[in-house]
Amino acid sequence: MRFAILSDLHANLEATEAVLADAREHECTHYVCLGDVVGYNANPHECVEIVQKLDCPVVKGNHDEQASLDESSRDFNALAEMAINWTRAQLTEEDKTWLRELRLSRPVRDFTIVHATLDTPEQWGYVFNTLDAAASFTYQHTTVCFFGHTHVAGAFVRDDGVKRVKTDQLMIEPAKKYFINTGSVGQPRDGDWRAAYCIYHIEKNVVEQRRVKYDLATAQEKIIKAGLPRLLAERLKLGR
Ligand code: ZN
Repeated sequence: MRFAILSDLHANLEATEAVLADAREHECTHYVCLGDVVGYNANPHECVEIVQKLDCPVVKGNHDEQASLDESSRDFNALAEMAINWTRAQLTEEDKTWLRELRLSRPVRDFTIVHATLDTPEQWGYVFNTLDAAASFTYQHTTVCFFGHTHVAGAFVRDDGVKRVKTDQLMIEPAKKYFINTGSVGQPRDGDWRAAYCIYHIEKNVVEQRRVKYDLATAQEKIIKAGLPRLLAERLKLGR
């Protein structure tokens, strides 16, 4: 059994399609989505439809939350705010209801999924360092938990202490705990423009980090044509 773990699609249809093709090629049989299906890029409705069709466990991201409200309830930076206003106008009432009703975290088989943190998921804090990760580990009751939100791929392991490790091929040992960021499908911010996601090989106990090239030029063109801020197109190729 192989799970494709997708996070932060951010309405990037080209990246999402490329990742799903890669997952099929690598014989993924199951899917989960860690939220932020919408926001920033040009195809929010299409990405909602794709995730709905996967019929898989999904948790809510902060952009999903804001897009599903009539107006913003918390401070976004100017770029995100412009994009979220545009996004609201693209989504159907059904899309918004679906986004609004997503849960903040949930168990899937023997692992957990959450968008931001396990300690206070509704506050949308960022886990960038071992101290942030330690707070989440306190609330983690499964060996593995996948999260997103930072758009930076990488994992934290709790053994005697908490340390950061790479996820190219991560062997899961049941005596430890793993808080794993899959990176972002639709807007990576770790300096690599390629779409990021993870494959969890359940029987082999291995989490594999994947990076997938996609039709970046088309995604950028659509952002500009939609009248979204140009910077959103430019950052895609920088992976920032
Ligand atoms: Zn995000």
